[in-house]
Amino acid sequence: MPAKPKDQFTLQNPLTQYPHPPFPAQGQAAPGLDAEMRPKPDHGEHTYKGFGRLAGRRALITGADSGIGRATAIAFAREGADIALNYLPTEEADAREVVALIKAEGRKAVAIPGDLKDPRFCSELVDQAHEQLGGLDILVNVAGKQEARKDIGQITHAQFDHTLKTNVYALFWLCQAAVPLMPAGATIINTASIQSYQPSATLLDYATTKAAIVAFTKALAKQVIERGIRVNAVAPGPIWTVLQPSGGQPPEKIPEFGAQTPMKRPGQPAECAPLYVLLASQESSYITGEVFGVTGGNPLP
Ligand code: NAD
Ligand code: MG
Repeated sequence: MPAKPKDQFTLQNPLTQYPHPPFPAQGQAAPGLDAEMRPKPDHGEHTYKGFGRLAGRRALITGADSGIGRATAIAFAREGADIALNYLPTEEADAREVVALIKAEGRKAVAIPGDLKDPRFCSELVDQAHEQLGGLDILVNVAGKQEARKDIGQITHAQFDHTLKTNVYALFWLCQAAVPLMPAGATIINTASIQSYQPSATLLDYATTKAAIVAFTKALAKQVIERGIRVNAVAPGPIWTVLQPSGGQPPEKIPEFGAQTPMKRPGQPAECAPLYVLLASQESSYITGEVFGVTGGNPLP
């Protein structure tokens, strides 16, 4: 991090804006805690400046405790939205920090921990968010599971099932519950990946889900535009989040994480959040069924 972080509007060289590899070797058990990452990711805590672009909106964000979801929650709160956050119960420490940051903006933060692999929990989550926020204008699906394995023989049936349930089934369950509750003008934003298009050998199950999310996004967009609801996806490249050192990458890849991009560094969660804001706001009124990369220069698809 630069000594004095600048906001997202200040002219800066993107090549030197954020830390470069090599990073310290590190590892945690999944899902891991952001609080234990070295160097600390930038989620916009000191850099994101809002302008009321989501004033009065009510948003449910999954995976909002850490990484890209946390950065999105901070940005949405600074743009004037109230937020329901979902995360796993073991991530309570990270989630508490996000709740405090949302409240510091004078916005409502409703914490609803629970496991998205459970279909009943998914529908309860949407109902609770809708009830406690007094409506639901934005659903941001950020939660995801990524567990690297070098060989197809090492992927257990349980891992395959958990990756599919978390990344694809939960997306279906959440959208199915949310759509009937959403007003015209509402938006859904899914989180795909560069892995949707350029899958790594070590991410067979994960890349499969991320390709599915692209098709799901495009098909749902065509369906729900009849209701005035838009659906888009963000497809990040390598982003410096706890997903990676908690089993998302083989441990030996962490020190050089992001080095293979044209920018020769990973992106920060704070560099993804402005795109989620744009896609949530009315500014993107003619955009639906699209997938947008945040990749440091590796083009999609
Ligand atoms: P992260 O670990 O900070 O966020 C992932 C979150 O998923 C966790 O915080 C956790 O709350 C949630 N989660 C996982 N399993 C869950 C379950 N069963 N029930 C409820 N919540 C669960 O990491 P991140 O990188 O910010 O990941 C966010 C999204 O971005 C994921 O969908 C990931 O696939 C995607 N993504 C990340 C990268 C990257 O390089 N970091 C690149 C492309 C896409
Ligand atoms: Mg987390």
